[in-house]
Amino acid sequence: MYFYCETCKKQYPLNSHSYRCKCGGMFHLHKDAADEIAKEITLGERETPLLPIRIDGLDLLLKLENLQPTGSFKDRGAYTLINELAHLGIQKIALDSSGNAGASVAAYAAAAGMDCTVYVPDDASSEVVAQIEAYGAKIVKVMNGRMHVCAAVKANLGDAYYASHVYNPLFFEGIKSMAHEMCHQLDGHIPDYVIMPVGNGTMLIGLFLGFMEIGRLPRLIAVQSSKCAPLYEAFYGLPAGPRKTTIAEAIRIEAPKRLDDMVRALKSSGGDVITVEDKDILTAKKELGRRGVYVEMTSAAALAGARRIFADGKPDNYRVVLPMTGSGLKR
Ligand SMILES: [Zn+2]
Repeated sequence: MYFYCETCKKQYPLNSHSYRCKCGGMFHLHKDAADEIAKEITLGERETPLLPIRIDGLDLLLKLENLQPTGSFKDRGAYTLINELAHLGIQKIALDSSGNAGASVAAYAAAAGMDCTVYVPDDASSEVVAQIEAYGAKIVKVMNGRMHVCAAVKANLGDAYYASHVYNPLFFEGIKSMAHEMCHQLDGHIPDYVIMPVGNGTMLIGLFLGFMEIGRLPRLIAVQSSKCAPLYEAFYGLPAGPRKTTIAEAIRIEAPKRLDDMVRALKSSGGDVITVEDKDILTAKKELGRRGVYVEMTSAAALAGARRIFADGKPDNYRVVLPMTGSGLKR
């Protein structure tokens, strides 16, 4: 296995302290059929349920990723990333995150006995910061952090490995398992639609790679907030719109690094990207809660998106999966 640059194809070893190519290209993972990711470190991650639910006449399937060990789907990426880094003998890591990814990587780093530092924006959810600290990771708070947290970690890496959920392809490699699980849970079928909130595109790109491995693609639908929608603008060739605060904090990513990968995933799958309003996300969160599903605000964006996509009804035979990205207990 090795990383390669998407632009110039130059190869880098997995333990490289470069996190992107010298030419500026992002890394992708090359893996041969015989290559296996290490699987020694575990926190009891599981196959998450696919819960059938009916809302406003829409039959939907909720993929309950909020039930993962740290309460979000990011555990899939952290599991693979930390297992492989531990296997390579890496002892010290750092990353930047405003939430779930920081908690996931910190938890798996704790299980692996790694030294972990997480750079967070100063307005990160206090519950998530408390969770990251509970795993023994060091926290560095960055003022005006949303725009600066990534630069801050890069400037202060020292001898730490940059265990980024955005730059490091091993993280995306882990998210692929969600696609395989859906296929298994649907008796070998793939969903017709997967409708998901998208910020950095961790889930979108990971699911795309997973379904490519299976050989069939569902329509991948990205949901963004109308207050911060860089993927929507890139997909439709629109000028940059506002970058405002939204209640769906986890998808408020002002300048995502893998926009090209995301647009490619959507176009290859015949998918789309839509925006939703905060008030519709809030309504969706209440509806989920009233049915016994307590998830973070960002997860509710998937339901708000499904209601827009199927505003005129949904054919009965369509299998529509909404990943519930994270637990409501976190924020
Ligand atoms: Zn390159």
